Amino acid sequence: MKRLFSIDPWKIVETTVNKEDFRLAESMMSLGNGHMGMRGNFEETYTGDFHRGSYIAGVWFPDKTRVGWWKNGYPHYFGKVINSINYIGIRVAIDGEEMDCYENQVTSYYRELDMQHGVLTRRFTINQNGKETDVEVVRFLSISHPELAVIKYQVTPKNYSGNVTFTPYLDGDVRNEDSNYDEDFWLEVERGVSHSNGHLVMKTKDNPFGTPTFHVAASMRLVVEGEILSHSTAEREEYVENTISVQALENTPVSLIKYVAVTTDRDYEVAQLITKAEEVLTHSDELGYDSLLQEHKEAWLKRWSIADVEINGDDEAQQGIRFNLFQLFSTYYGEDARLNIGPKGFTGEKYGGATYWDTEAYALPLYLSTANPEVARNLLVYRHNQLDGAYHNAQQQGLNGALYPMVTFNGIESHNEWEITFEEIHRNGAIAYAIYNYVNYTGDKDYWNEYGIDVLTGISRFWADRVHYNKKKNVYMMHGVTGPNEYENNVNNNWYTNTIARWTLRYTLEVIDALKASGHETRVSDLQITEDEMAKWQEIIDKMYLPYDEELDVFIQHDTFLDKDLKTVDELAPEDRPLNQKWSWDKILRSCFIKQADVLQGLYFLNHEYTYEEKERNFNFYEPMTVHESSLSPSVHAILGAELGKEEKAYEMYHRTARLDLDNYNNDTEDGLHITSMTGAWLAIVQGFAGMRTAHETLSFAPFVPKSWSSYSFKIVYRNHLLTIHVSKDGVTIAQEGPELFMKLYGEELVLPENGTTTVTLKK
Ligand code: BGC
Repeated sequence: MKRLFSIDPWKIVETTVNKEDFRLAESMMSLGNGHMGMRGNFEETYTGDFHRGSYIAGVWFPDKTRVGWWKNGYPHYFGKVINSINYIGIRVAIDGEEMDCYENQVTSYYRELDMQHGVLTRRFTINQNGKETDVEVVRFLSISHPELAVIKYQVTPKNYSGNVTFTPYLDGDVRNEDSNYDEDFWLEVERGVSHSNGHLVMKTKDNPFGTPTFHVAASMRLVVEGEILSHSTAEREEYVENTISVQALENTPVSLIKYVAVTTDRDYEVAQLITKAEEVLTHSDELGYDSLLQEHKEAWLKRWSIADVEINGDDEAQQGIRFNLFQLFSTYYGEDARLNIGPKGFTGEKYGGATYWDTEAYALPLYLSTANPEVARNLLVYRHNQLDGAYHNAQQQGLNGALYPMVTFNGIESHNEWEITFEEIHRNGAIAYAIYNYVNYTGDKDYWNEYGIDVLTGISRFWADRVHYNKKKNVYMMHGVTGPNEYENNVNNNWYTNTIARWTLRYTLEVIDALKASGHETRVSDLQITEDEMAKWQEIIDKMYLPYDEELDVFIQHDTFLDKDLKTVDELAPEDRPLNQKWSWDKILRSCFIKQADVLQGLYFLNHEYTYEEKERNFNFYEPMTVHESSLSPSVHAILGAELGKEEKAYEMYHRTARLDLDNYNNDTEDGLHITSMTGAWLAIVQGFAGMRTAHETLSFAPFVPKSWSSYSFKIVYRNHLLTIHVSKDGVTIAQEGPELFMKLYGEELVLPENGTTTVTLKK
């Protein structure tokens, strides 16, 4: 655990240039607006270690797979959202000497990420050969105009008068640090520069895999506040710049405002990219810096008015949840149905910004409750649109049906580790589960008919082919899989995978029945689902083998799990953690230590199908062996822990998920933030501490208040109700805008009056 930032309910504050942990701080200070985003890079030159990263949603490249020994079925490429034009760059020189916070003496430093308003501000005083200069840099990526980035760079000489030279530029010569062959993915298409303007159009290189190329244009417009002494321009391949010298008097600020518009051929014809970018800039000019900033701030406040979770009595916890929500909404707010949520969003390269099962398993519930219902639906339709790719993936493995990918942009699997792509097939279950979750939450049963049944049928066909029949035991089994616990591979009968496969088959049959009953028989017959096929699915459901140990009375993670040297995490020496950085992979695979919820993932998803005692026994058995080295792990444990009355454990897990990056728990935040697991803090509060459940189309809560908090409150959108839930040591108050609502509180039925409020005492 490493804490570089002070505790503040709405801000992330850094008071020194963290040269040793520069990349970590860059990840933390990332900004995004759904359309684009970047790490917290400095605008001016910095000669220390850093990771320049600027990404545009949906702009990706198929990087040729790199493996030691090719095996049939491997994906041909690893898809990644690629580092693109560096458009924030501004070199700054004082009387000809370039400013550099690494080399020069920085006498005071303050950087804050204002999460309430989505603004990054840096203030510092720099001393260059005795000349002291105050600098203030404000940056935001407008959420009112998503193609627009704005930077205001202000310089004030403290003890001299002299020349300040700003060199704002656009640089297309960028690479991904994680590219497989150190390849440059970009080519210049066009560039142009003139006084106060410049543009660059880049395109991704052609690739042999038939995936589309992308064009990206960045246009800048520059406004100087101060007396200009000279102004020149320069350009070279993939690069344009302006150089503007300004007379700066002692104690008098001068500034440069750099407006940049970024457009792509995802939205416009290539020939229009510059014109469209220019339109954004012209409009920005008209509005001016102050109005743009104001508009942007108000748009963030509006987001918070629905999504904020307020915690009283614990600022660390408060900062954690807000940081998570802020970064999550900076990555994805659901405006563009073609997009999804990458595990690192716009904050880093590892995991490539692609779509993982994380979206369905962890992100969907939050968007269901805090966004317009279209957003969650779009996330599901995204998978429907990629069904062909899922069929292709199954075919690659010689199997029927649809296998949704572990990593993708277009439906086609693009991860390149066999133990993941071939084996970690449980992900398919999460895609089916998301349909259940969505329909159950929203009541939108039309979804089954419109899209859901295609996906469920494809996935069920896959499971029916992937299982095998064991004649001797008269059961169906599934061998050679990797469960959610990626610290074991090639296991047989992973309980979770078998369970979610069986559940999918069952749910698909239920949906088929419902479709037939509602007059949509042809939808079923068009998919050529026959009585024989359904009978086969039923047989698999009835005879699915689910490992269980009578003596321990727990579900067994997989066939040979109990043969391991079973130990608990507290037996590990601190220097062994995190295991994935300290142990050989071989040692990890043979150990009993669990990366993330596996059996417990099943008890979380299918919560209503298991008894309290079953959950308790399995939690008590597995949690002590779990190292939570996936950022997705703590939230599931917080939720189950809370349900089981293990309030301290639940709180510990909340803290871990909410402050995972803030405190760098997994020692890897320098690579980027754990965006998809950022829903974990919200899940831990709403489904954990407040005990929200929606099984059987009934909304229910069973809240408690963690010891160190005095109260907390949050809002959710549930069907046509907007509910505000406030939980304090005295009681639970639920207020709503909407018609009368039948719900449950602590297992008791409750009728919430139309636009009314109910208060009950907190159950201890
Ligand atoms: C986890 C996976 C997850 C991936 C991306 C891995 O570390 O084990 O479950 O999908 O990260 O977040």
